[in-house]
Amino acid sequence: ENNRWAGILHAGKRDEAEQTIFDKIVAKSIPSQVVFEDDKVLVFKDINPQAPTHLLVIPKRRETLSQLRFATAEHEGILGHMLAVVAKVASEEGLGDYRLVVNDGRGAGQEVFHLHMHVLAGRPLTWPPG
Ligand code: C5P
Repeated sequence: ENNRWAGILHAGKRDEAEQTIFDKIVAKSIPSQVVFEDDKVLVFKDINPQAPTHLLVIPKRRETLSQLRFATAEHEGILGHMLAVVAKVASEEGLGDYRLVVNDGRGAGQEVFHLHMHVLAGRPLTWPPG
């Protein structure tokens, strides 16, 4: 199982960042609380929630993108799909108002270099964010 993922994950050319903890979450070699999944994306509860609801939406194939800045026209499909999944999950989970966040780069708070969208809900969310 691990080898299968390693082969897939190293297939990327443009974006060759290292594997991250999210690869293990996708492979289910470490547990997570999955809210939704399909063949392309996984939605799970953040282990260190910053709001009553804090979900992470990730592409299952990490080589897709380590961070948003490397996105090209090739990624429009997965990016659009991730947004459609956010809307579906927000509706099905009854989130009401929510915030969608992508931290792109360490200075913006990114710690895991496997593209992910944060979905935050369940409390008033102030603006500007910190
Ligand atoms: O945007 P950033 O890279 O900082 O987000 C990574 C997120 O992944 C954090 O909110 C962190 O709590 C979460 N995480 C997780 N499970 C892990 C490791 C990190 O939910 N095992």
